[in-house]
Amino acid sequence: MAARIIDGAKLAERIWADTSEQVAELARRGRRLKLAALMVGEPPACRVYARSQAKQCSRMKIDYELVQLPAESDADAVTDRIDEMNRDPALTGIMVHQPLPSWIDMPAIQLRIDPYKDVEGVNPANIGMVFYKKPILAPCTALAEVELVNETDMQLRGANAVVVGQGAIVGLPISTLLIQQFATVTGCHIATRNLVEHTRQAELLIVAVGKPGLITAEHVKPGAVVIDVGINRVETTDADGKKVSRTVGDVDFESVREVAGAITPVPGGVGPVTVTMLLRNTVEAARKQMARDR
Ligand code: NAD
Repeated sequence: MAARIIDGAKLAERIWADTSEQVAELARRGRRLKLAALMVGEPPACRVYARSQAKQCSRMKIDYELVQLPAESDADAVTDRIDEMNRDPALTGIMVHQPLPSWIDMPAIQLRIDPYKDVEGVNPANIGMVFYKKPILAPCTALAEVELVNETDMQLRGANAVVVGQGAIVGLPISTLLIQQFATVTGCHIATRNLVEHTRQAELLIVAVGKPGLITAEHVKPGAVVIDVGINRVETTDADGKKVSRTVGDVDFESVREVAGAITPVPGGVGPVTVTMLLRNTVEAARKQMARDR
């Protein structure tokens, strides 16, 4: 039987409605939210993302400011601007668009963001607090994956989970969150020998690598829950032989859906939930700042 498709867009709508109510509640208490997004230069993918972010914020009545620095900016210019944003009491959330120019060290920039305003949950201090089960603001993508797993009837306690890809912002934090829910977690990466032997044991398989088609039906245990975090642009030809570019994940969706019990599509799975998590973290940030400054 074909897998159940976990509809990220629908889940995102539900989280959106709840978050929107919380924004209204904070407004009634006199706290208006403002998210600032810092961009260095104008990478094309960031422009699209920033436009959609501005629209989402306006729908949710969160103020939004795109802070643009010249493409040739150095690390000092970026950290100075972040320091200013940290000090601005009207700004409740800060995020930095990626990629930054190659000469700027991203973790050093992320470390500079006030952990209480770090709505992406990428400050190394915030990632570290996840280990202590006391996150101030946790990484959005890892939070999104937990929400998507909760959409299935999977019991994490005692379950075998395999996380393919152990990057600092996605794979490692989700591995930690799953261990904290008492799943038994195997972390696979570029040096894993015989990947298929590991993934075939997974009742929950999370893939966050950035390689289209890495996971095929033979990698998947029948009935497993598969969460595909990968985002890849690939070129294919349409019915008229024209070249078209589309977004795919790391999982070969068509073959894996025949084996898995539940699966997230790309697009329409992890992506929309992650975007909504950023807004939920923006609310969470304002609440935590209010509690801290009381
Ligand atoms: P990363 O480069 O930090 O980590 C990649 C990981 O994959 C590493 O652990 C590496 O060892 C592993 N890897 C590489 N090749 C492998 C292979 N052949 N087999 C097994 N493991 C392999 O990347 P990241 O920032 O964690 O991003 C991973 C993917 O998730 C990317 O496609 C990215 O676009 C996507 N992503 C999606 C969202 C979302 O909201 N959906 C958010 C963040 C990242």
